[in-house]
Amino acid sequence: MSAIEQLIAGYRRFRSGYYEENRERLTDLAHVGQSPQIAVVACCDSRVDPAVITDSTPGDLFVVRNVANLIPPCEGKGTWHGTSAALQFAVSCLEVEHVIVLGHARCGGIRSLLEGQGERQENNFIADWMSIAEEARKQALARTDLETFDQRIHACELSSIQISLSNLLTFPWIRERVEKQTLQLHGWYYDMQSGELLEVDASGSTVALS
Ligand SMILES: [Zn+2]
Repeated sequence: MSAIEQLIAGYRRFRSGYYEENRERLTDLAHVGQSPQIAVVACCDSRVDPAVITDSTPGDLFVVRNVANLIPPCEGKGTWHGTSAALQFAVSCLEVEHVIVLGHARCGGIRSLLEGQGERQENNFIADWMSIAEEARKQALARTDLETFDQRIHACELSSIQISLSNLLTFPWIRERVEKQTLQLHGWYYDMQSGELLEVDASGSTVALS
C-alpha cells in the first residue's frame, strides 16, 4: 500500500470509528465554534505531534507548527508573518489562556542552525527563518562545558525556547495579557527517545512534567 493509500485507509477508519463515536461533540464544535484555552507552537517535525503527546482531542489545542517551533519578534513590515498571524488569532480572537512553546530533541532545524554559518541567506528560507535563534547558536558554540556536537544541539534547543518565550513578549497584545495575568507563557521540551516532557523556565532550567 502506498503512503497515500495508507492515509486514505486511515481516514476511513477515523470516519467510521472516532468520528462516529464522537459525532455529537464534533458537530457541536462545528456549530458553536472552537474555544481552546491553549495555543501550542510546535515544530513541523512529524515525530512531535502536540495532540498525540498530550492525548488531546479536537477543539482542545490551537496549534501552530513551523520549523524548530520558533516565535519571531513582533515586526510591523508588510511581509508574510504566518506564525505571528496565528498567534494574534489565538490570543486576541480566541483569547487562549496559555501559550506553550513546545521544543523537542533531535530537531533538524536546530541542527541546521548550528551547522550553518549564522548568516541570513537570500532564497534560503530555512537559514533565514532559523536566524531568529542566532543568539542560541552563538551561546551553544561559546560554551566550554559542552564536549560533543549533540550536547551543543541540546543546549541550543533549550535556549531557542527561551528566545521564543522572550519574543512572545514583544507582541503588545501578549505582553498586556501576561501583565494582567490573563495569559501564561510556558516553555516545554519533548524528548522523543525517553518520552520525557520537560518544563523550561526563563533561566533555561528544566523540570520533568511527570
Ligand atoms: Zn524540530
